[in-house]
Amino acid sequence: MKKQTETIHSRFQRRDPYGALSMPVYNTVAYEFPDAASMVESFCGRSDDPDYSRVTNPTVIFYERTVRSLTGANDVMAFSSGMAAIANTIMAVSAAGKNIVTSTHMFGNTYALLTGTLSRFGVETRTVDLTDLDAVRRAIDADTCCVYLETITNPQMEVADLPAISEITRAHGIPLIADTTMIPFTEFSAKSLGVDIEVVSSTKYISGGATSIGGLVIDYGTIPGFADRMRKEMLLNFGSYMTPQVAYMQTLGLENLHARYTLQTANARDLAERLRTLPAIKRVNYPGLPDNPYHDITLRQFGPSFGAMLTIDLADADACFRFLNGLKLVRRATNLFDNRTLAIHPASTIFGPFNDRQRREMDILDTTVRISVGLEDMDDVFDDIKQALED
Ligand SMILES: *Cc1c(COP(=O)(O)O)cnc(C)c1O
Repeated sequence: MKKQTETIHSRFQRRDPYGALSMPVYNTVAYEFPDAASMVESFCGRSDDPDYSRVTNPTVIFYERTVRSLTGANDVMAFSSGMAAIANTIMAVSAAGKNIVTSTHMFGNTYALLTGTLSRFGVETRTVDLTDLDAVRRAIDADTCCVYLETITNPQMEVADLPAISEITRAHGIPLIADTTMIPFTEFSAKSLGVDIEVVSSTKYISGGATSIGGLVIDYGTIPGFADRMRKEMLLNFGSYMTPQVAYMQTLGLENLHARYTLQTANARDLAERLRTLPAIKRVNYPGLPDNPYHDITLRQFGPSFGAMLTIDLADADACFRFLNGLKLVRRATNLFDNRTLAIHPASTIFGPFNDRQRREMDILDTTVRISVGLEDMDDVFDDIKQALED
């Protein structure tokens, strides 16, 4: 079966007594047991009967199993946000005295977690240029617990060579952890590119037009004990499991993901081409443009769709603010892959809490506006952008 068919027709683990077609929302905290012995089986992890919704819930399990079968993963765990998925994964693989090798190019909160929060727990974060394989090799030592990266960095849109980095991490016996939020896992195989653990903000593409905040950890079974520790330690002790309401919405989002993604990426490509014709725009950064430095590697690793995020550079920060204020249709908002086209000035918002030096290290420019391309007719979006630039 093709992935799209499989998504639509995934089967429940147990037949619904009413024959429901959509997975019901099991809005319950606890589950009753027929006798004391089956309670023991469940609490000690020897049966998959649910016990308590902080760690397991039939609606969430259905969502996790659907993602598992789509990705060929060993196990999938759903979290209350992308950040929860990332934080729990990092907490599971790291410990005081260990270090993480990563880049300065990534989502702002992940950067703050790795370089700020974790440093208080004795975990060191080493940032290198991940497109320089020798730099990656030099940064890894006996205390390195993982290499962490984003498949397409948000918002710089840098793309690292995953099989090459995986060869390095496998030689050291450490996991390669990849945030794949920018290209949905239905479009490419992270596993065959050598990724050991995938983390996703399912808030973005998967949720189906910004219905809910959620995160996924997709484990390919290459790291001994990881899934076990996630389920038996992280879910129990940190308590950031997804709720059944969110799992329900994100299951629906998954069902129409392919249709949305196809249109959204075609729109992004179309808009990127058109934006290049506008003299007020100094640069359009989109890997789908054939002369983009990451075009070929994106095509090779993630297939012929290039995502629905692009950035434009204007003359200065002032011009960016004037542009944002002039927009009438495109919404001034954060988030990615909403059904509506969204625009934001990352330097002053998502990266606002960082200082100038940090922003320089992260290559976050004052001149950049990030655009998440939606499902509208691009004639209308282009007209709106054009008039906002003329104001
Ligand atoms: C949004 C985002 C996150 C954080 O996800 P939340 O669901 O907002 O917690 C992490 N990584 C990337 C690349 C993102 O775009």
